[in-house]
Amino acid sequence: MAALAESKSKAQYRNYEAPARDTVREFYRLQHAKQTYDFAVAKKAEYLRFNRRTMTPWEALDYLNTLVDDSDPDIALPQIDHLLQTAEAIRGDGHPDWMVLTGFVHDLGKVLCLFGEPQWAVVGDTFPVGCPWSPTIVYHEFFAANPDADRPEFQHGTGVYARGCGLSQVHMSWGHDEYLYHMLKDYLPEPAQYMIRYHSFYPWHREGAYQDLLDDTDRAMLPWVQKFNPYDLYSKNANRPQLAALKPYYDDLLAKYLPATLQL
Ligand code: FE
Ligand code: FE
Repeated sequence: MAALAESKSKAQYRNYEAPARDTVREFYRLQHAKQTYDFAVAKKAEYLRFNRRTMTPWEALDYLNTLVDDSDPDIALPQIDHLLQTAEAIRGDGHPDWMVLTGFVHDLGKVLCLFGEPQWAVVGDTFPVGCPWSPTIVYHEFFAANPDADRPEFQHGTGVYARGCGLSQVHMSWGHDEYLYHMLKDYLPEPAQYMIRYHSFYPWHREGAYQDLLDDTDRAMLPWVQKFNPYDLYSKNANRPQLAALKPYYDDLLAKYLPATLQL
């Protein structure tokens, strides 16, 4: 089973000053200019009806195999490899099987690319919209080009949200986390739901920003999101897992928790 970062020191991950891949900076220039409050709300209305198509979990995973994530400074391997590396690292540390499953599916929402969404509307770190952007967000300077910068109701205090309202009441920048959370929330325990929904919300789970928006449930779930993060981040390496040998285990795990087909 895969171990967490050995050949690469932890400080070498998430290096945005000198990213190993030159797509990263351009990705965030677009994401920060275009992810507005209105955009996120409109995408939720569009996609959370789940009336597009039906796929088995493996069909969705096979599609992901064709995708390389432009926002990721650390890996240019196909997504299925990243999912297997994440899940195998979780399994190797003896965590519950629902957490292994969470690792295995956590980026499945990237199938949004299948529907023609640009990468800036699918991947990358996430952040709340409708309230001030935390200075802890990577490439914060690119928000100067976001039209929400000129909407005063978004730029003070907690913006359009009530203090302490809880993250469930907050619209996040649109992407694979929010989409997959809504797709799978009925099948997974609450910590798994949080891991999926907020795994890209680094300004919260790593930087501790947005305290004024949190409720007690968010505070109780944060340690789970943080427990998940190292597996998502530090399991990334260039060694490709062998899917054929692992497939029977993941077949059983998918069948235990998820329906035979997913509504996308
Ligand atoms: Fe992700
Ligand atoms: Fe991931």
